Amino acid sequence: MMTLVEAMGAIVGEKGVFADAKSIGVFSKDAYYYSPVLKSLLGDKQADLVVAPQTVEELQQVVRYAVQNNIPVTLRGAGTGNYGQCVPLHGGLVVSTHRMNRILDFDDTTGVIRVEAGTRLGQIERHGRERGWELRCYPSTWATAAVGGFVGGGFGGVGSIRNGVLWDGFLKNITVMEMTAEAKLHQLEGHDIFGFIHAYGTSGIMVEFEINLAPAVPWEEAVLSFPSYESALRFSHALALDTDEPKRLISLHEWPIPSFFKPLVDAGGVEEGRAVVLLELSQGRTAAIAERAVSYSGKLTYTAPAGAYHKGKFCLTDFTWNHTTLWAMKADPDWTYLQSAFRPEPDAALAQIAELRAFHGDKVAFHQEYIARGGHLQLAALDLIYYQTKDEIYASIAKREEMGIQVADPHTYFLDADPRWGGEPVLQARAKYDPLGLLNPGKISDGAAEKVR
Ligand SMILES: Cc1cc2nc3c(=O)[nH]c(=O)nc-3n(C[C@H](O)[C@H](O)[C@H](O)COP(=O)(O)OP(=O)(O)OC[C@H]3O[C@@H](n4cnc5c(N)ncnc54)[C@H](O)[C@@H]3O)c2cc1C
Repeated sequence: MMTLVEAMGAIVGEKGVFADAKSIGVFSKDAYYYSPVLKSLLGDKQADLVVAPQTVEELQQVVRYAVQNNIPVTLRGAGTGNYGQCVPLHGGLVVSTHRMNRILDFDDTTGVIRVEAGTRLGQIERHGRERGWELRCYPSTWATAAVGGFVGGGFGGVGSIRNGVLWDGFLKNITVMEMTAEAKLHQLEGHDIFGFIHAYGTSGIMVEFEINLAPAVPWEEAVLSFPSYESALRFSHALALDTDEPKRLISLHEWPIPSFFKPLVDAGGVEEGRAVVLLELSQGRTAAIAERAVSYSGKLTYTAPAGAYHKGKFCLTDFTWNHTTLWAMKADPDWTYLQSAFRPEPDAALAQIAELRAFHGDKVAFHQEYIARGGHLQLAALDLIYYQTKDEIYASIAKREEMGIQVADPHTYFLDADPRWGGEPVLQARAKYDPLGLLNPGKISDGAAEKVR
């Protein structure tokens, strides 16, 4: 009888099998180490083998083999997820999609692009922009993250102030492979898609996507600095509400966070003791926006023209969303973070911030990102907290929940602990497309179905 390595080699060829300890170690991890809690829980979890098919047919054969032999399968894009989403809890196969990375079709009249699951978001953004289109939203890990991983484990990011998040028209349809001996393919659209967004690869294998792009805008970057977080927030809120002013990013950072952004510090974009707002504005609008900031005591400290967009040594998105946490951890590894939703109205948000400031003292630094969904503003907070023990982190979460702040806990690997997961649609899709529960087992807690009911 063939070994697992031989069986996989016979399907995908030598180049698609990673059997050495180092590769297995690397492909069994993601960016869960941003959480000291997950770091201690997931450090020893490993796949038995990593396999990287190049075609849908190869993937089907891998699936058939895994089903016949009852082997767990964990899908992996680029492995940049933060919650151990693609860490295999029960060994088995990690199936990496990095060799399934082709752009299959593009309609430049509608901006719909058809891609394989392992296609990087950076590839799609570049392909689109060269033809007058751009991604509706993308994570700050866009250069490396795969579209399958973004849909399976992400949320939103740059562009979310303009076009919402993954649930808001990002996808036209997806092609899903069922985890059965038949490995049948299904093209899903409309409501059926919700069983796969942010489902951690537990409900089926996404093999292809049709993605709705948005008309491209020439974006220029600007940094405004403010004497206080309050003035930065009041300015940002007014800008976020101004629907006549196109913007792709409004990202707010309390001091000392800007001091962590080394390349921006070196470029003179950061001033001691001041909060910053990082912006992507439409070409030619920076001077007018900087003028508006004056009444909030804001001033322009850095700009990059539209011609340099995504081309320079760094771009401002490198400091936003969860990249902010990355820079903080580089400055001091004892920083970690929380994800929650603050009230978007400035007075309410500032009251929440004041209460949390009283609770944490100087062990918190506020970082918030604006999102607009269906005409409603949301204030996504990725607060940095200076705590490393589970008790301290959970006390910080409990404090927010007591205040009515919804927390998407980044210190657990359970999908159903995340308020952004789909609930019933995910469970229904899982029952239909993974009836044996072989996909990423252990990521949905035993009580999930009960909770959903
Ligand atoms: C520094 C940093 C910044 C980040 N910023 C953001 C941000 O701005 N916004 C945001 O939303 N996220 C952010 N993230 C999280 C993550 O980078 C993104 O969500 C990213 O899009 C994940 O893509 P990936 O290819 O790395 O996914 P992976 O980590 O490889 O996978 C994520 C999940 O999707 C599943 N999956 C992968 N491929 C498939 C498939 N073909 N079919 C079914 N399931 C699949 C995996 O099993 C896993 O559960 C950040 C992370 C880091 C480390």
